[in-house]
Amino acid sequence: MTAQTTSESYFQNQLREQAIVDSVAAPKGIDELLDLLRDYLAEDEVGEVARAYEFAERSHRGQFRRTGHRYITHPVAVATILTDMHMDHQSVMAAIMHDVLEDTGTSKAALAAEFGEEIADIVDGVSKLDAIFQSRAEAQAENFQKMAMATARDIRVILVKLADRLHNMRTIGVMPLEKRRRIARETLDFYAPIANRLGMNAIRIEFEDLGFQALYPLRADRIYRAVRSARGNRTALMDELRISLEAALRREGIDAHVYGREKHLYSIYRKMKTQRKSFSDIMDVFGFRIVVDQVDASYRALGIVHNLYKPKPNRFKDYIAIPKANGYQSLHTSLVGMNGVPIEVQIRTRQMDTFAEKGIAGHWLYKTEESGDGNQVRARQWLAGLLDLQQRAGSSLEFIESLKIDLFPDEVYVFTPDGDILELPRGASVIDFAYAVHTDIGNHCVAARVDRQLTPLSKPLESGQTVEIITSDDAHPNPDWLTFVVSGRARSAIRQTLKVQQRSDSIRLGRRLLDRALANENSSIKRLDFRRLRKVFKNFGVRRLDDLLEEIGIGNLMAYVVAQGLLAADDDDFEAVNIDQAGPISIRGSGGLVTNYAKCCYPVAGDPVVGHMTPGKGFVVHIETCRNVEDIRRKHPAEIIPARWTNDTHGEFEALLNVTVNRRKGVIAELAAAVTHADAGINQIQIDERSAQVSGVRLEVSVKDVDHLRRVEQRLNTVTAVQEVVRPVE
Ligand code: MN
Repeated sequence: MTAQTTSESYFQNQLREQAIVDSVAAPKGIDELLDLLRDYLAEDEVGEVARAYEFAERSHRGQFRRTGHRYITHPVAVATILTDMHMDHQSVMAAIMHDVLEDTGTSKAALAAEFGEEIADIVDGVSKLDAIFQSRAEAQAENFQKMAMATARDIRVILVKLADRLHNMRTIGVMPLEKRRRIARETLDFYAPIANRLGMNAIRIEFEDLGFQALYPLRADRIYRAVRSARGNRTALMDELRISLEAALRREGIDAHVYGREKHLYSIYRKMKTQRKSFSDIMDVFGFRIVVDQVDASYRALGIVHNLYKPKPNRFKDYIAIPKANGYQSLHTSLVGMNGVPIEVQIRTRQMDTFAEKGIAGHWLYKTEESGDGNQVRARQWLAGLLDLQQRAGSSLEFIESLKIDLFPDEVYVFTPDGDILELPRGASVIDFAYAVHTDIGNHCVAARVDRQLTPLSKPLESGQTVEIITSDDAHPNPDWLTFVVSGRARSAIRQTLKVQQRSDSIRLGRRLLDRALANENSSIKRLDFRRLRKVFKNFGVRRLDDLLEEIGIGNLMAYVVAQGLLAADDDDFEAVNIDQAGPISIRGSGGLVTNYAKCCYPVAGDPVVGHMTPGKGFVVHIETCRNVEDIRRKHPAEIIPARWTNDTHGEFEALLNVTVNRRKGVIAELAAAVTHADAGINQIQIDERSAQVSGVRLEVSVKDVDHLRRVEQRLNTVTAVQEVVRPVE
């Protein structure tokens, strides 16, 4: 190491120097890359890669990087990283073209036309990931990782992106200070954890060390220098321990490689910072890795090592039997060596070692060695057990297909307009989102824009979308929302609000009913002095006017009866007078909560109707000519309330049709088909066999309005077996 004569640190110089050398900035030319690909790809696949190169080279012609190299050298370097992992030709092609959408005038459609949808999707996915990372907020690192992975869907998008970032980190030294710090922080916050999640240890370590050096060059210097000076004292002891481990294994006939392990700079820094350990505490531990051929050899090696040095109790971990979540497999143990030296040993097979270093990418390296070997299968379970690959171990194509499933199947991650990220359960709608932001937002939600497009409230959201809620002060939750919300929070908030709303609806209805009844006596609620009428409240079992009105609205009290009681108490001379009908009650269909439709006559929007207050049921709507209504009209004419449909009535109405048909096979199916063809629903079919030739069929259908019902009748009449269709009004 050279002496530090300026404030410039060793790593600042180091990063700047390495960025511009050809072996880092432009490690391979296209011909060398194609040669490497010929080792594991078919010639026609190599040809496709060459074609992608020509396309990208043309697109980037005239562009240069800060390192002074032609721009195309960067995507080729990224492709080279993937080639080292033996990634498939589509990934390599996508890597070569990964910047053409963003940096040149090329469209995704043009790319798809030239190279197919699959490659265009990967390239597009890489570009979108950039956008997501650039809108990040630091506190949300964990969510970002998940979001990035959930959005990408095809794991190859992530792998191309990681390779892209890796090459950018290797050449970060040419970036101006501010940009360098931002990129380095992003790398430590997101890219290193994602590499870790995918079990790609080698790349994670490179991300961490380069990120550390670029973000904290002086701290990296200090640790680097301390490691160098400690190394001198350690080397001899390290060699001695390694030789004795090797000899012991060889004596027992185990073919093993023993490596001394050194902690990398960033892990030392992190341990000092988070575990508050001193530098010497960390450096005084001697780490070894023993790599063997077979799983059973791992366990035998463990026994030998435990025999050689005394194992520390409770420090043994069997990650072979129970792999870590990212698929990592190894045996870990801690020992006490000669003179009390602490030793940490990892034991694993060569295959496990490859997976521990390369993680998911290890699959491509091992893809020709498919077998029933459980280790390999387990090693791929870094998707937290999502990918059950045991069944699909056949071809790498199937493997790639299986990677397109969601990495986080139970959640979606979406942005608020401010760039915050919300985690919602899968299937969550705009309404769930609104309630997740705030109960008031949910309660007053009227519409929503998803990625700037107006979107139905019930449509399930997808990861990566930006959701903006449009509210209105006089909006209320709709009972229909309960049919599609998935979050508990939204569900209970809607229920709670509806309960309150139902009461105010009832009060409003009760007020109108009472006013109508009072109007018949030339009075009104306003005109009555309720302070004097308290005792009447008691007679009706309520304490306040609102409660009285609610009872009327629900139908527990008859408006007519209450009006009589109030007026009699208000005026001793009061006598019942004739009923003069005031304006009709408006019915607005399914949105209303108090309204019920009579089960005797099945009124449908558009029918001439009247209302009747039925105790316990509230306001019940009947068809004007219903026989039950005629009965009431005869006995208690004041209880019949005129009603009409509002113009914006909407909903599903049940209606009854009696159909007489000639008996023959399949006729019921024909009736059902006719109803369905008229876009109506069938709730119930009841068959009454009247004779050998004729059946009566009682059809309960659901329709939007009376016109719709008429269309259903017409459809039914087209069935040849149908003699008659009648809508009964009882
Ligand atoms: Mn790039």
